[in-house]
Amino acid sequence: TGMQSFLVVSVVIALAVATSLGLERQRALSTHRAKDALINTLSHELRTPLTSIVGSVELLTGDMDMAADERSDLQSRVSRNAERLLSMADNMLTLAAMDQREWTPDRRLTDLRECVLAAREAVAVPAERVSDLRVHFDVPDEPVPVVADCRAIERVVFNLLSNAIKYTPGPGSVHVRLTTSEFAARISVADDGMGIAREDQRHLFERFYRTSTAKQHVVPGTGLGLSIVRSIVAAHGGEIRVDSVVGVGSTFSVDLPLHPVTVSR
Ligand code: ADP
Repeated sequence: TGMQSFLVVSVVIALAVATSLGLERQRALSTHRAKDALINTLSHELRTPLTSIVGSVELLTGDMDMAADERSDLQSRVSRNAERLLSMADNMLTLAAMDQREWTPDRRLTDLRECVLAAREAVAVPAERVSDLRVHFDVPDEPVPVVADCRAIERVVFNLLSNAIKYTPGPGSVHVRLTTSEFAARISVADDGMGIAREDQRHLFERFYRTSTAKQHVVPGTGLGLSIVRSIVAAHGGEIRVDSVVGVGSTFSVDLPLHPVTVSR
């Protein structure tokens, strides 16, 4: 059934991630502390969604007379957790490839609007939050020509947007905007969520860094998303910055050089 294949896929992903990290990143993680941090993160971040998937599937298959709404709750829990594992696996595999220097951006002349809008399809607001969390996309009417790896830029927006959603626990809104100035294109992702303390802001882009606020609120995460964002932006000759106030919200802005030739219409 769909449920069982979800389970199988999740387990395969978990194993692939564990293997890839075990083999490929061991060299880079030379200190015991880094290894401990990795093992802690992994065991928690893999176990939590997997435990939830296994539990939900057991309930679903064990009780054939379950009410339809209860059944659909459990199904959406399974898919949410499988998505979380998938996104984590993608981040970890990207990072492993970057470490191996196997990854360089595949840059082509593209309309940046397409890369930004692709993330809209990829990030889903969890069903139980649809009523109180609005996500707005705002892109120019004209093409925005950049020389970029569109899939990598999509991942940048994906990671920033997933964070904006995750770290806006109550009702709120998230704005993804694409704007241009004379030489640069700017992608900004703004939320009115929990915000980030000033002392945390300069560490955000480090691998495995998570703020204590994030941990206190038990928001799931690995501390890898922003380190990947930073690497991708740097590989494009771009810049990233964060403006944030605790309790008010955060805005992450990515500047990418514009291609000088206007894309012909
Ligand atoms: P993760 O979300 O998996 O923990 P990231 O590297 O994406 O890892 O983010 C690092 C940390 O930065 C997060 O743990 C969180 O504390 C903080 N953070 C990132 N984005 C936001 C945001 N939009 N609002 C508040 N805190 C954020």
